[in-house]
Amino acid sequence: MSSRTTYPVYESRSGWNSLLPARTAKTNSVIENKYDFIVIGAGYTGLAAGRRLAELNGSASILVLEASVVGEGSSARNSGFVIALPHNTNMSGHISPAEVAKKQIRVYDSGLRWLKGLVDQYHIDCGWNPQGKYHGAATAEGALSLQNTASQYDKWGVEYQEISQAQLSERLGTRYYRFAIQTNSNVFIQPAALVRGLADTLPTNVTLVENCPVLSVEQGRERGVRTAQGLIRGDKIIVANNGFARKLGFLKDRMFTIFTYAAITPELDPEQLALHGSEPEWGLIPANRMGTTLRKIQNNRFMVRSAYSYEKPQTEKTVLALLEDCYRRRYPAVKSHRFEHLWGGATALTRNGATYFGEISPNLYASVGCNGAGVLKGTCYGKLLAELMVGQKTQELADVLAMDKPNWLPPEPLRGAAVKTAIYLQKRKAGAER
Ligand SMILES: Cc1cc2nc3c(=O)[nH]c(=O)nc-3n(C[C@H](O)[C@H](O)[C@H](O)COP(=O)(O)OP(=O)(O)OC[C@H]3O[C@@H](n4cnc5c(N)ncnc54)[C@H](O)[C@@H]3O)c2cc1C
Repeated sequence: MSSRTTYPVYESRSGWNSLLPARTAKTNSVIENKYDFIVIGAGYTGLAAGRRLAELNGSASILVLEASVVGEGSSARNSGFVIALPHNTNMSGHISPAEVAKKQIRVYDSGLRWLKGLVDQYHIDCGWNPQGKYHGAATAEGALSLQNTASQYDKWGVEYQEISQAQLSERLGTRYYRFAIQTNSNVFIQPAALVRGLADTLPTNVTLVENCPVLSVEQGRERGVRTAQGLIRGDKIIVANNGFARKLGFLKDRMFTIFTYAAITPELDPEQLALHGSEPEWGLIPANRMGTTLRKIQNNRFMVRSAYSYEKPQTEKTVLALLEDCYRRRYPAVKSHRFEHLWGGATALTRNGATYFGEISPNLYASVGCNGAGVLKGTCYGKLLAELMVGQKTQELADVLAMDKPNWLPPEPLRGAAVKTAIYLQKRKAGAER
């Protein structure tokens, strides 16, 4: 993986994408000289924006440019939790007053219905499973943090169940977690299958071009984006490439990029699979942000995600040792802790957990800074950004526009030192949650 360019370049393929049949990337589309709208990035945010613009204006010309190929970006590198709740409720800056949280939940609910509608309409085979998720604590401190989350859920009107260690042991096959809360506001997906399905069913007035990185954005009289093929003019431009917006000169003092890592086992035989609990599919996110995510997935495999690094990826060897250790500690009885697929991905964080949403300058719009839970948030915000651009006025849009904007971040080297110190301290605090 490298982040030296204006776009992410990964060394390893997305494991989720590797599990799917090969797909032919859209690299040969004819590119016109000019479009009504140009979207930078074909992740969940960019695809939702492009699709919604087309839904609202069937005669508009819309170009979506993707640096890589769909199925290899972060939208297909994540853990596949479609989380319809404000995330990381205990993280500094994420503690929302109840009325803000309730507005966020309404936005997520409606985005989730839109997404489900698309999955059904286009028969996107992405393992959509509205199973709910566990939020698990391995330490006393983690359990306390979950109690705080539960009391926030009480205020927000979110239903949840408290799950004991004995119940977890039966359902998940590990006694590692002493306590969990289970909420229904989550869907499991195969993320590469979903994002590929969304890209391959775009309306006909959307042209998607893959392997076509945007190198710069021109904002003068000749507004548009520059690619290796030259300038493509666009009346309105949507920046939907998350942390890499900074590489194009936008919001440099609002976001930073972190890398996090995941791995999937080979298919497990029935005896080994049974060691991963009685439920056919489940997923658990950690009580501490620096902790480990687990997922028992539909095709008899198991996924582990953990670790963070600031702006630069860690070596595969380091990440592999770390993820195997996370797996072994939770499942000591499993015969092998070997993984078949190992990968990392970049995601963008902001200091106060807020996403940048709206107009950056005339005719230039952005929704970036997903803060690690962007499958649904990217979808919702990309859709709403399109609505904003065509002048729609809805309560949802007003609610999102009124939400906090990302706080200012100090420049390097202060920023790097502060984030790395925070990661170090939080890792120590996380203890066995890692
Ligand atoms: C290991 C891991 C686990 C995660 N788990 C979850 C999870 O379970 N649930 C969840 O909700 N979120 C999760 N996330 C975060 C989630 O993946 C992101 O929030 C989500 O991908 C954001 O979507 P996006 O469309 O805004 O950005 P991206 O998915 O990053 O899409 C942006 C696209 O823009 C492209 N691009 C970048 N620069 C350029 C350029 N210059 N020109 C053209 N194209 C460009 C990129 O190639 C990319 O495809 C996880 C992330 C990682 C890395």
